[in-house]
Amino acid sequence: MTNQTEKPMEMTFELHVVLNCSASVGDKVAREELAGFVTSSNNTLLTRGAPPGCGAQIVSWDVLDEKINLTIVSDRFVRAHDAFLRLKKELTKLLGKYRIGIRGIEIAEYRITLDWEAGEGLQIRQLPFVKAINQAQGRLELLLEIDESAFDKRIPDRLIRLLEDKLDAARWKGKSEHWELLFESAKKHYLFDKDPTAEMLARGWLEHAAGRGQYVYGPQVTRIFRTFEKILLDELLTPLGYNEMIFPKFVAWDVWKRSGHAKGIYPEAYYVCTPKTRDPEYWEDVMDYFKVTNEVPVDMILGKIENVGGMCYAQCPPFWVFLQGKTLPDDILPVTVFDRSGPSYRYESGGLHGIERLDEFHRVEILWIGTKEQTIEHAKVLHEKYRHIFDDILDIEWREAWVTPWFMAQEGKAGLSELREVGTTDYEAMLPYSEKWLEFQNVSVNGDKYPRGFSVKLQSGQELWSGCSGVGLERWAAVFLAQKGLDAENWPQKFRSVVGELPEVFRFL
Ligand code: ATP
Ligand code: ZN
Ligand code: MG
Repeated sequence: MTNQTEKPMEMTFELHVVLNCSASVGDKVAREELAGFVTSSNNTLLTRGAPPGCGAQIVSWDVLDEKINLTIVSDRFVRAHDAFLRLKKELTKLLGKYRIGIRGIEIAEYRITLDWEAGEGLQIRQLPFVKAINQAQGRLELLLEIDESAFDKRIPDRLIRLLEDKLDAARWKGKSEHWELLFESAKKHYLFDKDPTAEMLARGWLEHAAGRGQYVYGPQVTRIFRTFEKILLDELLTPLGYNEMIFPKFVAWDVWKRSGHAKGIYPEAYYVCTPKTRDPEYWEDVMDYFKVTNEVPVDMILGKIENVGGMCYAQCPPFWVFLQGKTLPDDILPVTVFDRSGPSYRYESGGLHGIERLDEFHRVEILWIGTKEQTIEHAKVLHEKYRHIFDDILDIEWREAWVTPWFMAQEGKAGLSELREVGTTDYEAMLPYSEKWLEFQNVSVNGDKYPRGFSVKLQSGQELWSGCSGVGLERWAAVFLAQKGLDAENWPQKFRSVVGELPEVFRFL
């Protein structure tokens, strides 16, 4: 993906390194030879590939016993750390002639200064591998704390990339226009003006569970959820040739590294831990503590477990492990599958509200894979099917809006969704009781994001694309019941014929 920054960011790199050699350099190598090496490096090696007058330069050097001190200054064309790697290779050859080896590298100081005019309002307080940050007068100065291995891992380049992303993200946050109306249904006559969750609680259709943002759904709500699933199956999944799969609900970190969620999921994840050992003796103190106090000693437990990932957040990422590293023949495309095998978990903090915003919720995740054209085309077919369901069966008032997909917003690449190929359509419906619109599902064309992240290829070499659509059962229920109420006789006839009689199982005294 390309960078949305309007003009390239000006930057200066200043690197002081000390090379520790296996013997005293001054004793064996003539100073003139080293001086000649520096001059010729400055003229060719360190400016290679850069526009005239640009690149890196050794601005000072010095030899002291086994140590060679170097100061390299550069612009953004041959960044000082790249210049150093080029230099080290040539210097190793030169010293090799005198049977001197390079034993180790000390990075005495690495200072990167960026033109930060555009980031005026954005305070950068801390960064990994950076020991000091100085932000003033439109400049951002970083003092890195790294060793040579960080050069191999391209840490300096990734830090700059991170800052550019932060800048782009800040720029897009200020703009509100990445919500754009695509379609609006006819106005509907609302039959209800109350909060459906409160009403369902009053009727005993559901009950708060012990966990935050979690409900126990009684037989009536469960029947409504299953009716939504049946409608989805009969009207959309089956006619379009979808096959059901079962996606894992525990998600290991490697999946989120590949899906990109590892860039930002932390404040919303439900974390999963395993015991450091299953040896009962290791856990005896915890067991004893509980037996004596009847309290679970959470702090003690935290010391004995290990985090291994999190609970299902976006539903489709763990599917991709099924295809990871594989090559698909073109003639199986488009592939269409769905999963409804378990809940999703998100820490919604203070945002919890009834069945509209939960920490534990249920979705049918619809996933399609194809060439670029097939993937975009299939999204259009889904939109048609959904419109039929919402208009002719649920009879709700809703609208569709073009929004920035999460992964683009996260990377500050929101501008890309303006192309209208890769992107997300949110479906929103009016909640009469609060007069607010609620997103109840979406349809996303994810481009080659997942195939790229999980190294899935197409035999013909064409780009492989994918899309997904998350149907939130609680959100469908929230929207439908908020507009139609809880009395079945007011529900649209087509829906009633699928839902049948709501089961009455429990009574409370
Ligand atoms: P919101 O903006 O409302 O938080 P989102 O953009 O985070 O939604 P997505 O990540 O697009 O939601 O998830 C897809 C679908 O999953 C949503 O359209 C919705 O149906 C459902 N969903 C997401 N978060 C929740 C939640 N906390 N409770 C219930 N359903 C949810
Ligand atoms: Zn998905
Ligand atoms: Mg959300």
